[in-house]
Amino acid sequence: MKAVNIAIDGPSGAGKSTLARKLAARLGYVYVDTGALYRAIAYDCISHKADSEEQILARLPEIRLSLGYIDGAQHVFVNGEDVSGSIRTAEVSMGASRVAAIPKVREFLFNLQQEMAKTHSVVMDGRDIGTVVLPDADVKIFLTASAEKRAERRYIELNEKQPGKQTYEEVLADVIRRDEQDMNREIAPLRQAPDAVLVDTTDADLAQAEEMLLNACKEKLGS
Ligand code: C5P
Repeated sequence: MKAVNIAIDGPSGAGKSTLARKLAARLGYVYVDTGALYRAIAYDCISHKADSEEQILARLPEIRLSLGYIDGAQHVFVNGEDVSGSIRTAEVSMGASRVAAIPKVREFLFNLQQEMAKTHSVVMDGRDIGTVVLPDADVKIFLTASAEKRAERRYIELNEKQPGKQTYEEVLADVIRRDEQDMNREIAPLRQAPDAVLVDTTDADLAQAEEMLLNACKEKLGS
């Protein structure tokens, strides 16, 4: 049977990961968080003090990335080490956005993402899934929310893990900077695909956003 592919793109903090994970669980599909792959590369580069583009590219042949699933949650491994817990810091977020602007890094991850989608029915979230990685996806969703609302959500999440590490204003500045970087880079910029359904979660709670997403999928998949 042909694998069904659902692509969810959008800026950071729109609720992509949480919603994509829930949607995948409801549909019985595999959830692929592609941001975690960019984060894993950034984490490895930070650990090895690879800072310049040249140093980052020199790391790529040394990095073996793999995905695993524990209780339905995606775990990402770098050379066998589970780095899932270490890639959620502000430093790694900015690093991921930086490495993601390097064409060879995107190429490196392209095959892995396509292979996952060929062999499994997936809900894949990222920035360029509907536009570049899976242009023929059965359903494309562009999930967004205002920058203030996204910063508020990220602030609450970060504050639970590292209380007092960043103020709301700092998180908002990071969100705006990362949007800018992701939307204006030359390669695979964050953009809504022409055939993507726009879902704005600024004024929606999690349950409402989940229904919006599920309805968009049912409409496209016809069930
Ligand atoms: O989604 P998340 O915030 O974990 O992604 C981290 C960074 O990885 C993003 O800011 C973006 O620069 C990059 N990314 C990307 N393409 C994707 C997924 C993530 O460029 N498909």
